[in-house]
Order: sequence, then structure tokens, then C-alpha cells
Amino acid sequence: MITFQNLSLPANLLENLTSLGYEQPTPIQEQTIPLLRENKDLIAQAKTGSGKTLAFLLPLILKLDEAEHFPQALIIAPTRELCEQIAGEANKLARYKKDVKVTTLYGGTSLTKQVASLEKGADILIGTPGRLLDHFSRKTIHLGQINTLILDEADRMLDMGFADDILKLVSNLPKKRQSILFSATYPENIDKLTKVILKNPTEVKIASKEKEVAIEEFVYEVEDKDKALLTTLKHFQPNLALIFCNTKIKTAEVSHMLQGQGFDVATLNGDLEQYERQEMLLQFTNGSLPVLVATDLAARGLDIENIDLVINYDTPMKTEDYTHRIGRTGRADKSGLAVTLCDTYGLGKLSEIKPKLQAKKISTLSPNKNFYMQGEVATLCIDGGKKKKVRAGDILGTLCKDIGINGKDIGKINIYQSSSYVAIKKTVIKKAFTGLKNGKIKGKNLRVWWLD
Ligand code: ADP
Ligand code: MG
Repeated sequence: MITFQNLSLPANLLENLTSLGYEQPTPIQEQTIPLLRENKDLIAQAKTGSGKTLAFLLPLILKLDEAEHFPQALIIAPTRELCEQIAGEANKLARYKKDVKVTTLYGGTSLTKQVASLEKGADILIGTPGRLLDHFSRKTIHLGQINTLILDEADRMLDMGFADDILKLVSNLPKKRQSILFSATYPENIDKLTKVILKNPTEVKIASKEKEVAIEEFVYEVEDKDKALLTTLKHFQPNLALIFCNTKIKTAEVSHMLQGQGFDVATLNGDLEQYERQEMLLQFTNGSLPVLVATDLAARGLDIENIDLVINYDTPMKTEDYTHRIGRTGRADKSGLAVTLCDTYGLGKLSEIKPKLQAKKISTLSPNKNFYMQGEVATLCIDGGKKKKVRAGDILGTLCKDIGINGKDIGKINIYQSSSYVAIKKTVIKKAFTGLKNGKIKGKNLRVWWLD
């Protein structure tokens, strides 16, 4: 058995990995970390949920020069949510070094605030292609010192039409650099990008063995998709379900339908304001809204613990989309279920993109009429975050000591720059809300409201 020790990493990094609960490298980490440390260009492919993020972040953080004042690494990813997630991992992993600054740059948030944060110094830039290019054109990012370029989910960025933006950015990076691509899927057309961006790249591909496949896949032939969706949920009775639709409008309709049937539902699509996207995702991950209806925006990279059922309400258009959608479950060696609901058109589409899957009749399922998905917790938002030096411990302190809430009734606490969110059992949420409204966190009276 190979351990992180075998990869000859510094002791303080090993300690940090242990404290984060990483005991042993995954196969893709084992194979790529040594190559990346030799500064090689790399194209890496491994299935969804196999730990690709740590594989590219670990060598990067090792390599960062603490004396350098300009950004040294550029990570490009297709969605804002994925940028945030990668930044979160980078921050955790870099804890053992002093003062590594990770800055996210994506649309839907104020440019001025991003510029202010860049001016304070940034070591790692993580962004979506459009906003990065925007900063570059305004000369608000300095790319002259970048020595590592990482593209996560590169094939998706091509699909979204970002190839030109990426090429423009890359042509302005120093020639002497390490360039790295990570994804679970590489369609043929990726060559266009790789030929220009990478120099003699090493290719690492971890094939997943049939018997290791952790996601069980089902296809149902259906007439009424709404009805079939309810049947599916009430049959499989998941704890956390992610439902994919092909259009933004459809996500809103399906959410509305499920809400009408007594489900607590979040919606995620590109029409929402950035704060809404953040709050929807947060309420799904903290269990307040245990169903998420989303477009392919949520298909790439998102690592949400304990999603046990993914449903394709609409059949995806491409094999890659299918792979990434269902890959939101069965992560890091856990198991998961994926169900695709197909009308006649969907069956035709599916036979093109996943010819091996066989459809069953939806009538073979036995739904439990009385099953609903409702959050045991709801979310309170507090008008103060990192900037006001609010920490999870401060919120816990006020809730438990001052207000008398039992610790076991408090769920996830998320702290952002200027706001914080806390999940609280619905049975005591009124008490918590009133207490927080009248009480103090860190000696300050902060505004509080309820998300629903
Ligand atoms: P991918 O990018 O391959 O889809 P992620 O990088 O998002 O996968 O990782 C999936 C999950 O596996 C994450 O929750 C991550 O924390 C976890 N993970 C990554 N590396 C390890 C490891 N070495 N040991 C245990 N868990 C890991
Ligand atoms: Mg990933």
C-alpha cells in the first residue's frame, strides 16, 4: 500500500494531509504527483470523484515561492461554483505554509471588490475564462510571473465556447511554465487546445475497472416525466437528490412542481443572481433543501458529500454530460444511484450516447406515497463574515452559551467574506433566530434573517 509518506513530502505537509483526513493517495494522485513535481506538462484523466483536485493542487502548493509578490499560478475552471470549491481545497491544503493567498475571479460579483482583493496580493488565481480575460484586458491581473497553468474540466470549457478566451489568456502567459489538464473525459476535439497549450505532455489515464464502478445506473421508459420523477424519488427514497434538466426554464418548472408536492427544493441555473446561486447550493449541501434541480451548471466538478441519487429528468445530449452528471454521486469510493427518465425521444438519444443501458418500465417501481424530502434543518443568514472576523466558534458560542441551543441541533456553519450561514434544526430555529437578533456575536449586534 502506498502512502503519502512514500511520495517524499515535507513533514508539515504530511501533518496537514492527516489533519484533513487524507491517509493514502488515490491512484491518480499516486501517479501524477511525482510527475508534476518534476515540472512536466501533463494531461490527466481519471473518473469523477477520484481526487483529481488534490492531485493538481498538492504539487502546486509545494512549488509556490513564498517570497514572490505576483501571482504564480492560474487555474481555469468552467463554473463559478467549481472555482469556489477549488479555492476552498487550496486554502485548506496551503494551511501549512504561511500566507498563501488564493483569489477567485468569476462573473456575477463586483469587479471592484476583486481588484481590491488582487491588490492585496494573490499567489493563486482561480477563475472562469470570461472574467479572467476581463481582468486581463483591464490590466488588473499580472500574469508575467505565472509558472503554472491548470485547466480543470478543460473539455467542458471548449463546449461552452471558451476556447478563444482561454487561448488569448494563455498567449499572454510566460512561455516557460508548466501546463496541466485534468478531466474525467476528453473528447476528440480537445486536441485543438492541448496542441497549443501544452509542451510534450505526459499522458496519465487511470481506467476504472468494471467491478469498481460505484454508481448503479437505471433507465426508465416513461410517458409523464413529472409523475415518473415523483415515482422515482418515492421509490428510491434518497437523503440528498440531484436532478438534471436540459434547460433553465425546465429546472424552474420541475422545482415548482416538486415544491407543490411537499418537497424542499433548491434550484440552480445560470439565470440566478450570484448570491442566489451561492445560497441555493449552500442550502442543498447543508441539508435545508435536500433536493437540487439544476442545469449542467452543476454537472462538472462539484463535490457534494452524500448525494445518493442523481436523476436525469432530461436525457443529456452527450456521453460526457451523462458521465459528469451521474458522477456527482458515488464519490471517493462511496456508492450511488443514477436514474435516467426517458420518453420516446430520450430513449433514442440515450441509445446514441450510452448504447449499453437498457430501459425498464417505470411501473416496475414501487413508490411509497408517504415519502417526502424535507430538510430537518433550515438556514439562518448572519450579516457578518470573515471581514468582521466572525468565526464558526463565535456563532456556536452565542447559540449554545447565550441562547441555550443544544450543540446537536446546530448543523453546518459556512463563513464567507461578508456573511455567514448556519443550519439549525427547525424545532429550535425560532428560538435561535430571536436570540441571534437580540444577542451579540463577537460583541457585535449583527442582522439576521431566514433563508427559504
Ligand atoms: P474529482 O475532481 O476527481 O472528481 P475531487 O478532487 O473533487 O474528485 O475529490 C472527490 C472527493 O475525494 C473529495 O471529497 C475529496 O476530499 C476526496 N479525496 C481526495 N483525495 C483523497 C484522498 N487521498 N483520500 C481520501 N479522500 C480524498
Ligand atoms: Mg474535479
